[in-house]
Amino acid sequence: MNKKIFIIILVILLIMGICILKFNKKVEIVKVGEIPKAFTPRSVNLPIKELTKSKKNIHSYSKVSDNTIYLTFDDGPSYLTSQILDILKEEKVAATFFVIGSSLDKYRDVVKRAYNEGHTVALHSNTHNYKQIYSSDENYFNDLDTIKAKIYQITGVNSRIIRLPGGSSNTISKKYNKGIITRITNKLNDTGYYYFDWNIDSMDASGKLSSEAIYNNTILGLHHGTNIVLMHDASTKKTTLEALKKIIEYGKENGYTFAKISKNTRAIHHHINN
Ligand SMILES: [Zn+2]
Repeated sequence: MNKKIFIIILVILLIMGICILKFNKKVEIVKVGEIPKAFTPRSVNLPIKELTKSKKNIHSYSKVSDNTIYLTFDDGPSYLTSQILDILKEEKVAATFFVIGSSLDKYRDVVKRAYNEGHTVALHSNTHNYKQIYSSDENYFNDLDTIKAKIYQITGVNSRIIRLPGGSSNTISKKYNKGIITRITNKLNDTGYYYFDWNIDSMDASGKLSSEAIYNNTILGLHHGTNIVLMHDASTKKTTLEALKKIIEYGKENGYTFAKISKNTRAIHHHINN
């Protein structure tokens, strides 16, 4: 009899332990290219789950809907941005733009339009020059302050949403300063910034990829949970633009909702390698 009670208590404690571990996890660490743990076949209809708030979280968040796609466009603005915005408007979908400083003056109105139409205009880098920004902590944060000020002038918002050039898993930075990504990300977390990597790579950064390949890379990565899709809004990325509408249509047809990144978005962080 005592043995039976002991086993029951043991099982209950085990279940409680699993639950605590599961719900305390707010930041999902993924390795580039790996299938996220929450992967489930897209054909399965999954219930929407709400995640509970945890005291251990670095950033608070209210609730997270599952099966959400966050389309993110790095390295813009470019001549493609207004066409991206046209598609997003037509499809009534919000997205996130991690912008850089080089073309901001030229496309100021387009960035303003993105903001006015309800998208998140977030910080990528002013120079996007790895050697410069990753050679010292001071250089990185000076660059960040510069792009932040430029965005503020256009949108009137002090954005605290960031994507590091190369993502937080980049190893190029090692060449310029050992440990800099670890220090930068710690400081960002400590000073009220929210950095976001991605868990779906459209692979549009690699050479001239066809729109079919970009479409396939994206939809094959979709899974139950938070889907942060890396895409690029640069002048050479015409095929990304061509794939966009089809990606959105696929998402809608398969029960996904689209959202822009905010500080309440579940953070997807890569494993830091430097
Ligand atoms: Zn970039």
